[in-house]
Formats: sequence, C-alpha cells, structure tokens
Amino acid sequence: MDKKLVVGNWKMNLLREEALELSGAIVSLLGEDYDACQVVLVPPYTVLDVVGRRISGSNIDLGAQNVFGRISGAFTGEISAPMLLDAGCNWVIIGHSERRHILGETDEQIREKLLLSISCGLKIILCVGETEVQREEAIRGSEDISARKELLFSPTKTQIENALHDLDEERISDIVIAYEPVWAIGTGKNATSSEIAEVHGYIRELLTEMFPGLGGSVKVLYGGSVKTGNIEKIMSVDEVGGVLVGGASLSADSFFRIIKSVGG
Ligand code: PEP
Repeated sequence: MDKKLVVGNWKMNLLREEALELSGAIVSLLGEDYDACQVVLVPPYTVLDVVGRRISGSNIDLGAQNVFGRISGAFTGEISAPMLLDAGCNWVIIGHSERRHILGETDEQIREKLLLSISCGLKIILCVGETEVQREEAIRGSEDISARKELLFSPTKTQIENALHDLDEERISDIVIAYEPVWAIGTGKNATSSEIAEVHGYIRELLTEMFPGLGGSVKVLYGGSVKTGNIEKIMSVDEVGGVLVGGASLSADSFFRIIKSVGG
C-alpha cells in the first residue's frame, strides 16, 4: 500500500442516474489505466452495484460507508461484510465521525465491525479525530506544551487504542487511519499544515508503539473540508498518505483535480 490514497465519501447523496453519471465522468477524466495513486469511491449502499459496474475495468476501487459487526442474522436494516464483498467492495469506512456523533456509534461497536471486516477480507479506513470542544479544552487546558499535546491527542489515542488493541500485527497492513478533526468535516474550516503534521506525527508514534514491526508503515490520511484550493498544502505535509474527501468528491471536476494533485 505505498501509493497515496484518495477516497471519495459520497455520504447520503445521489440517486442511480446521478451516481452513474459521476462515476462515469471520473473514469473518463482519469482514464481506465490511471494508477498514480489509489482512488476509492464510497457511494451509498443503494448504488454500490451501479457504481461498481461503471468502474469495473478501471483501477478505481469500491468501498462502503459502514458495515455491521455480525456476519448474518436477525439484524433488520443492517449490512454485513460478506454482503459488501458480494456487492464488489474491497474497502469499508469504519467509525466515521458522523456515525460516532450523529448515530451514537461506540468504540466497542467500531472494534467489532473492524475485526469482523478484516477477517472477511475487507480493507479498513478507520476514522478518528477530536471534536471542536475537545480541541478548545486542550488549548485552554494547559500552558505546558506537553500537557496540552497530551490533552489534544487523547481522543484520537483512545479511539485508536480501543479499535486496534491486541490486533494481530500482520492485520495492520489492511488498515488505513483517517485523521479527521470533527470540526473540519463539512464546515469549510481547515486544519493548518502544522496542526495536521502534529497529529499525524503522534498517530505514527502511537502505531509504532502498538505495532513495533509494521505500525510505522500504516497509511494515515487527512480528511476535513479537503478542496481543490487546499489540497496542495495538505499534501505538502510529509506524514499525509492521502485524503478522505466528502463534499468535493460529489463534483467530477473537483475530485479529478484533487486526485491529480495527489498522484500527478
Ligand atoms: C468526510 O466525509 O469524511 C469529510 C471529510 O467530508 P468533507 O470533505 O465534506 O469535510
């Protein structure tokens, strides 16, 4: 997984015709052979099949926005990892902040989803990041720089530790972490390069501590109001292994320009 990664999370948007048109436009703009970076489209469940067929034959991968933590059974309304594989997905986003904070998903549920999805053969994009209140509390909380950092990193640390503790080290290569400060998602607010570098550096340290052999090689993405106007700056941060894009992935032109800025 050494190529940079660009993930387009369509969230709860687009009907079949629109999804077909957007995925078709992205394939046409990029060309079927494009592989300078790995692109993943993450549409809603209802159009996975349509989008999967449209991108088939290209190097674009298909992902889902969520999964349930059981293989099958009486769980009305839920979708399992084998169903996602069957629909053509090889990626799944787990622990997106909209699921944590709007749908009330817990760290325990996230771990359950992650372990099962990995064992079924899906690659995981695990989202982590602090809320605005948590960031402000950290900044106000201490004059001392190392104490401030400890407070700032604490939500991300807890989310990563709760999701990944005691995981077989070899499984870590199936996981990508997306650092998405909650206050930057869909708000137009951006983390600065130094804010991104600070947290990404910390995540790398934590992963290396948890998985001394392979933790250092885990890809860490940035997400939160990524646009054509800020992508160059974000990608100039050494630690950034790619981006998770929400709103700007709904326009073929913007998403294409973001991909080209990342991969060339
Ligand atoms: C996201 O969906 O994870 C996201 C970062 O959204 P946006 O780019 O719209 O902020």
